Amino acid sequence: MRQEDFDRDWEAAGKELLTRMKAWRLAHPKATLDEIERALDKRMRELRGEMLEDIAQASDLADVRAQPEAERPVCPKCGARLGPRGQEQRTLETDGDQRITLTRSYAVCPECKAGFFPPG
Ligand SMILES: [Zn+2]
Repeated sequence: MRQEDFDRDWEAAGKELLTRMKAWRLAHPKATLDEIERALDKRMRELRGEMLEDIAQASDLADVRAQPEAERPVCPKCGARLGPRGQEQRTLETDGDQRITLTRSYAVCPECKAGFFPPG
């Protein structure tokens, strides 16, 4: 696990969420509980998406090239050791309806030529 992948400042992001909610509340003094909840959920989903992106990105499998050959994942079809085939971006939709982009190794099987993003 590469420590440097975690360097986004989540504490600051959490404080910013609180600051933005306070500002929103001051601008909406008559908001109903439902409206407050929706505003809060929207901002929390955004933060959740950012955190998910960072945490998912901090994976050894994010870069197959950096792994010793003996530790690289194997092909789920034939069991051959996978070879790296560059980095590609993969955009996914999360449960909170946020789009996150991960830069992952794309790996290819030297035997059956299947190519895919290793899980993890
Ligand atoms: Zn294979």
